[in-house]
Amino acid sequence: MPLLPEPLQRLTQAFERLPGIGPKTASRLAFYILKAPDPVSTELAEALKGLRASIGTCPVCFNITLADQSQCDICGDAHRDGSIVCVVEDPMDVLAIERAGAFQGKYHVLQGAISPIEGIGPDDLRIRELEERVKAGGIQEIIIATNPSMEGDATALYIKKQLALYPVHITRLARGLPVGGDLEYTDQTTILRALAGRQDM
Ligand SMILES: [Zn+2]
Repeated sequence: MPLLPEPLQRLTQAFERLPGIGPKTASRLAFYILKAPDPVSTELAEALKGLRASIGTCPVCFNITLADQSQCDICGDAHRDGSIVCVVEDPMDVLAIERAGAFQGKYHVLQGAISPIEGIGPDDLRIRELEERVKAGGIQEIIIATNPSMEGDATALYIKKQLALYPVHITRLARGLPVGGDLEYTDQTTILRALAGRQDM
């Protein structure tokens, strides 16, 4: 017989599947929701239910956006400089750089990094689409802000090679980001410094 009534057990197990949540935190959250006032669980349920259906991918930069938008807010922002494009691995990285608040260009989200171990090759990422954007013209600088890891470095080198034919300046975020670290967990000051100190590749 399970320790908890089935509905509570089910919620606990759902939480346990989330990253960074162990069994203890999972049951604490489940009990919290059980005892919390109605609006807490209603709002959580509604937010979860609507999430997948209402979020889409920007066809220009491949960041997340509202499903019914033709492009994301950043791509659509005429005040941002479209001649500088910052290339990141995933949407959380865009969020980290936006929070640092010093980048006024646009983005390109690769949706991952090259990783032979995980079977992820260049064709699984949005690299061809990046090349198309560069080919279309108007981009002067590509800042490659993939993570400072083996996968991120390999991806940066591959992109550099792919774009070698085009008259575009390619830079990489300065070292100083923790090696093997993840952009999304890097503090704002470090991101600002890495952006300001970006170097030619
Ligand atoms: Zn976009």
